[in-house]
Amino acid sequence: MKEHYDVAIIGGGIIGMSAAYHLAKAGKRVAVLEANEVGKKTTSAAAGMLGAHAEGEGDEDIFFQVGRASQELYEKLTVDLQHESGIDIRKSAGGIMKVAFTEEEKNALCRMQHLSTFQWLEANRVKERLPQITDDIIGAGLIEDDVHVEPYLVCRALWQAAVRYGAVVQEFTPVIEVKRDKEALTVKTTSGTLTCRDLTVASGVWSGRFFEELGLSHSLYPVKGECVSVWNSGPALKHTIYHEHCYIVQRDSGKLVIGATMKPDDWQTVPTLGGVEAVIQKAAQLMPSIKEMAIDQCWAGLRPATSDKHPYIGRHPEDERILFASGHYRNGILLAPITGEIIRDLIINQHVKEEWLHAFRIGRKEASLV
Ligand SMILES: Cc1cc2nc3c(=O)[nH]c(=O)nc-3n(C[C@H](O)[C@H](O)[C@H](O)COP(=O)(O)OP(=O)(O)OC[C@H]3O[C@@H](n4cnc5c(N)ncnc54)[C@H](O)[C@@H]3O)c2cc1C
Repeated sequence: MKEHYDVAIIGGGIIGMSAAYHLAKAGKRVAVLEANEVGKKTTSAAAGMLGAHAEGEGDEDIFFQVGRASQELYEKLTVDLQHESGIDIRKSAGGIMKVAFTEEEKNALCRMQHLSTFQWLEANRVKERLPQITDDIIGAGLIEDDVHVEPYLVCRALWQAAVRYGAVVQEFTPVIEVKRDKEALTVKTTSGTLTCRDLTVASGVWSGRFFEELGLSHSLYPVKGECVSVWNSGPALKHTIYHEHCYIVQRDSGKLVIGATMKPDDWQTVPTLGGVEAVIQKAAQLMPSIKEMAIDQCWAGLRPATSDKHPYIGRHPEDERILFASGHYRNGILLAPITGEIIRDLIINQHVKEEWLHAFRIGRKEASLV
């Protein structure tokens, strides 16, 4: 490990790796310190939907605006990463079919009707596109821009490309302590110590301890999600099927990813039988034939949640050398490109939209949406 870096990043999930990639590409000397293996925590548990519309609350919503911007960045990033790392992040076409079983659900979905990216389809037209879907739906909102990627591949590609631009990535190197004095920041790890000009905390749900150690009261809590994958024995799904946080996503490998439970404050990363059963039951209501498919595997991950469900992206209010990029909750895969760009632009003193910085600022008083 070199002694001094322009930027040290704590955490090698998709958020830390996106920051590393963008900073290294901008010419900064970057070190990423990862406690475990790159991308093997929450990032690899994700389905990979870029659900700006599916997760947002309409075009007035700041999350929607930032999510859309990040979704658009994936266009160029996909091509760049293929070129820079040789890795195809498997960005799908087709988008999300958000299904409605009741008039109430239809009305809620149709609030997006003014968006050019949204299309309401009656049940017969949904069936034409997705013959596997249950007969019980009354229709669905098709959002073609909410495509998906393979999260671990995105993280791995960002990692390889960042290294190509000179970043140093240390796996199995947990950060134990950050010391601050006027001259430099000193980062102590189990493998030694380094100093840096700027530090970015991107350690997912485990960032809470750094907020505390660096004099901030924010906390993060896990919302555990359990998933199952099965081998699709029927025709490939042309669209992701989505209803009330339950989804079925087609992978290129022929697998279907089915997710996910929402269990706040559960730190266990092992899936439970009850969790897996709940996910399968919900998926079978959407697509009855799924019950006959062979199980591939099941897993769980911890979504890093904040009390207002928005991430913290920005500078420490009292020490501008320290930045946070944590708390991306259900949307870290979607928001990884824009987060990496914001962190880069803050560090290299480029303009970032004021309203975005304001919405995600450290030190805000969050209104709980739970
Ligand atoms: C079931 C499930 C489905 C999901 N589906 C989607 C989806 O479809 N679309 C979407 O956009 N998002 C989705 N998400 C959310 C998304 O996975 C997360 O928001 C995202 O992975 C967070 O990335 P991260 O880099 O902040 O955290 P992580 O991937 O957890 O990375 C943090 C890293 O920090 C490391 N670390 C921790 N402490 C230290 C330390 N002291 N020193 C050094 N390193 C440390 C950890 O080892 C870890 O590798 C889903 C999440 C789950 C659980």
